[in-house]
Order: sequence, then C-alpha cells, then structure tokens
Amino acid sequence: MRHEQRFVERLEAGEILVADGATATNYQQMGMAIGVAPEEWVFDEPDKVRGLHAAFVEAGADIILTDTFGGTSLRLRESRYAGRATELNRRAAELAKEAAAARDGVLVAGSMGPTGMLMEPLGELTAAAAADAYREQAAALDDGGVDVLLLETFFALDEALAAIEGIRRASGLPLAVTFSFDQGTRTMMGLSPTRMVEAIAPLGVAAIGANCGRSLADMERVVAELAAVNRGIPLWIKPNAGLPRMVGDVAQYETGPADMADYATRFVQTGARVIGGCCGTSPEHTRCMIAAASGGRLRVRGQD
Ligand SMILES: [Zn+2]
Repeated sequence: MRHEQRFVERLEAGEILVADGATATNYQQMGMAIGVAPEEWVFDEPDKVRGLHAAFVEAGADIILTDTFGGTSLRLRESRYAGRATELNRRAAELAKEAAAARDGVLVAGSMGPTGMLMEPLGELTAAAAADAYREQAAALDDGGVDVLLLETFFALDEALAAIEGIRRASGLPLAVTFSFDQGTRTMMGLSPTRMVEAIAPLGVAAIGANCGRSLADMERVVAELAAVNRGIPLWIKPNAGLPRMVGDVAQYETGPADMADYATRFVQTGARVIGGCCGTSPEHTRCMIAAASGGRLRVRGQD
C-alpha cells in the first residue's frame, strides 16, 4: 500500500518523523570494501541492503531511505551497472518496501544525490541532461513504490533546480529537498540556507532542509537560519554524527547516540519536523532519537 499522502498529512498533523541513519558507514561495518559504491549492493548484496533497512525499522524509524543516493544514470556511468539505472532504482525501492512492511506506517523515501558533475559553464553537465537523469531515477523509484522522493546532499542550486524540473515530469509524489552546508553554514558552492529557501520554497516541495554537513554545532546554526527564513514548509534535518576521524581506512565519527539525540531535540525545538542521521549514524543513534521522541522531548509543544 502506498502512503504518499501520509507523509504530508502526518507532518500537517504535527507529528515529528524520525528518518533513518547512514548507509555507507553502516555498509562498511557490514563488510563493504573501500571503493565499492553502496548502490552496487542493490544487486550484489540485497540481503544486506534489506538487513540494514530492517535494523532501522526495528530501531523505530518512521522513514527509511532507498540505497540509491548515487543512482542517477550519470553517476552510474563509470560503474559495473552503467545503463541499468531504471532497474537498479526500482529494485532498491522494492528492497526498502519489503523491510518497511515489518511495521505499520513506515514510509520509504527514494534517495537521489547529486550527479557528481558540475553544471555548465563550470562543468559539462547541461540542465537538460541533469533533468533527464532525475526524471529517469524518479520514475523508477515511483514504479518501485516509494512514498516520497528526496533530493539530498545537494550543493549547487542549478543542479537541484534541473533535478526538480525532471522529477516533476516523472512523478507526482511529495518531494523533499535538502542541501549539505558543509562549509560552516554554506554549501561547497557558497550557497546559504536563506538563498536556498528563497529559490526552492516557491516550487511546492513537501519538505526542505539540510543533511550531511560538517559538525553538529554548524548544523545548529544552519537549522536556526532555515527556521528564520522558512515559511511553513516542514524542515527536514539529517546531520552527520559530527566530524569523522580516519582510523586506518575507517572513518570514525565523534558524536555518540545520546549526544545526537540531544542535538535532535534542540533541532526540533528550533523547528525541524523530520529528524534523522547522515554519515556515521547507526541504528543505535536512531533508537536514541526515538527514545527522546517517545519521552516527549521531540513532540511539538501543544500537540499530543
Ligand atoms: Zn552524510
């Protein structure tokens, strides 16, 4: 059963939704080799993909994200699965839906990250080619049964605008859009949260916000700026577990589950309506955020 309206309705009813945590960081713990793209596991290790989804569902997540962050045809071009974007995205959506079925009301968000290319005139990517790649990815995720579409970790406004245009040609599902402000409170391209909201908010998106980024202290400033300029669109905030530190080949993240839940509580008090984790966050981080939610700390004041 599709729940696409439930994402919008639940937010309108004042519910705080908890989204899942990291994909790549957890796959590395599960044995994914350095240099392997997480999307390859959709075909190569479907049981592990389903297994991580199941761990987040068991932790209590309301929303799980498909393993399709790098799943545009443009990003898959150099991989073993070049030319199979439609099949890969549809299969990834099905794997997430299978795991989501374990508990009533778990929503699946179709994750779409940047192409990894720069748009003209800085790079070679045209708006038409970008729009077409996201049209293809969104159509496949919609076919596979996701409840909501998500553009995440974007840093360039022109690429996001082209992506939104393409997605709208393929799907009427609710769309959330989040950028990575990983240079303090700016993206890699110098975009501020204010400028992002001014450009994206008029496009009828179901949620807007920030994910990944750098430190949680920086994210706190980003959330405050988003909340100050945003007018009524639910804020989606999915930060990293703080800064990574390389231990051998493995990135270790500085913020543990309890501290993450404290930050999540503060982000909700500032205005976040969807909260979750990005790089470095485990199902235990999710569990702690849920515990904060069920303890009442993540509820919107005045609502039950
Ligand atoms: Zn991240």
